[in-house]
Amino acid sequence: AISAELIESIRTIPNYPKEGVLFRDITTLLSNPRAFRRAVDALVQPWAGSKIEQVAGIEARGFILGGAVAHQLSAGFLPVRKKGKLPFKTLQQDYQLEYGMDTIEIHCDAVKQGEKVIVVDDLIATGGTAEAAVKLLRSAGADVVAACFIVDLPELQGRAKLEALDIPVRTLVEFP
Ligand code: 5GP
Repeated sequence: AISAELIESIRTIPNYPKEGVLFRDITTLLSNPRAFRRAVDALVQPWAGSKIEQVAGIEARGFILGGAVAHQLSAGFLPVRKKGKLPFKTLQQDYQLEYGMDTIEIHCDAVKQGEKVIVVDDLIATGGTAEAAVKLLRSAGADVVAACFIVDLPELQGRAKLEALDIPVRTLVEFP
């Protein structure tokens, strides 16, 4: 089964980036040619032939997956970046972190009005980052069709946050 192969390709690092956290390290999936291809193929499968125009990848691991997904769908790629990294004029969205706030940005001309966009990242935890990305893309005029992730941490209920915005969520594996 695909999910067993993907789960086994993901490495777990205890106490990273801080004590008590189990970090799911997808670099071991990316370095496994079979797992990488399977993950990208499975992520795009619902949207093959559906005329997605842009793939929005969330910094930084969402860039790697989003680039591959965009190529597979013959779509464009647009980076959703941490504040201060994009060179041209930007639109911004603040979001809540565990402690404090953070800001993500896209270029002000990254999407055209009504353009069909999917959001890609490696993992959804609380969903705060992806929720901010959806709001930002919508504020720029995008028609956000879906959000997809390799890993879901269902305990943190990020999926519900996106579904509350009417965004279908695709994930490939779960870690309890
Ligand atoms: P959220 O905003 O859903 O709480 O956190 C998701 C964001 O944090 C994603 O951009 C994701 O890459 C990163 N993230 C949080 N925990 C992990 C983890 O265990 N492994 C990986 N690879 N990324 C994580």
